Amino acid sequence: MDKININELSFEELEKFIEDLGEKKFHARQIFKWLHREKVLDFEQMTDISKALREKLQEKTYILELKVIECQKSKKDGTMKFLIELPDNNAIESVLMRYHHGNTICVSSEVGCKMGCKFCASTKEGFVRQLTASEIEGQLLTVERYTGEKISNIVYMGIGEPLDNYDNVVKSIRLINYPLGLNIGARHISVSTCGIVPNIYRLAKENIQCTLSISLHATTDEKRRETMPIANKYTIKEILDACKEYIRLTGRRISFEYALIYGQNDSKAEAIALAKLLRGMIAHVNLIPVNEIKNGIYKKAPENRIEDFMNTLNSCGVVTTVRRELGSDIDAACGQLRNKYIDKTVDLTRKKYIKKEE
Ligand code: SF4
Repeated sequence: MDKININELSFEELEKFIEDLGEKKFHARQIFKWLHREKVLDFEQMTDISKALREKLQEKTYILELKVIECQKSKKDGTMKFLIELPDNNAIESVLMRYHHGNTICVSSEVGCKMGCKFCASTKEGFVRQLTASEIEGQLLTVERYTGEKISNIVYMGIGEPLDNYDNVVKSIRLINYPLGLNIGARHISVSTCGIVPNIYRLAKENIQCTLSISLHATTDEKRRETMPIANKYTIKEILDACKEYIRLTGRRISFEYALIYGQNDSKAEAIALAKLLRGMIAHVNLIPVNEIKNGIYKKAPENRIEDFMNTLNSCGVVTTVRRELGSDIDAACGQLRNKYIDKTVDLTRKKYIKKEE
């Protein structure tokens, strides 16, 4: 029988597994702590567990280990970008950002992305597979092990569309949030979506209280369709209706991400239209100077246009911030580092990550 990945078990599943092994279920508390809080990679390190139980665990399960293929560190602000190898040799990215309120990690939820947003490097090589819950949580464990630093905030904004991998993402939030594990409060966890409407409604009912971020990037469906294929499936109105339900059930404010693309969506008229759309909602707008990706067609809006856009929104009563650009001297844009390693001429299955010549 194949060994099971013990990190994938929720606390309740672990309790049942331990009982099924003929052991007392209180051992689940000890094991869960060793795995998710102490981040051990070897059952021998579980020193308060009997040798007999450690041997049983070794025989039936394995501890998930993700490996760092490359880590880039910004000399400007200390942002660290990790290329992480999964057990099947696929690779994903995680980014550690330093803010005054603590360390924030941006995690990937899928290998590649099928959403096809035109300004995004993560989608350029297509979609490979969804991540498991433990592969998502494993990014935190790996980065904490690598840096020796504690992470206090998580944003699901890396490679992949989190609400396209709904069950694993929700399970990973529960793992990360669990008091015996990393114990990171749901209010410190932010899930970003391009607007998978049915799953916004589902998330609202999960009783999780995480922050929801919507990648809006346009004020009309027509304009949104130019950069985001998902707009062919769900309208802005449908997304905003789902957001209102999210606010009603969770009491949480929604964050709207708006990547400012020069000449595309950064005019004063667009800012007024955005304020109109969000009127009456508990909302916050996060303006993002768009990352110019290699061979991409979109240009970043100049500083004065970003400032004007922000001032217009603020004067309309919409709380607005501009996302500080971090890691501008490394491959900070989501998907860029991974793309560097995909050598299509060598390996079409993307099973090997061999750095391409610059
Ligand atoms: S922006 Fe997000 S949803 Fe769109 S292609 Fe990139 S990773 Fe996927």
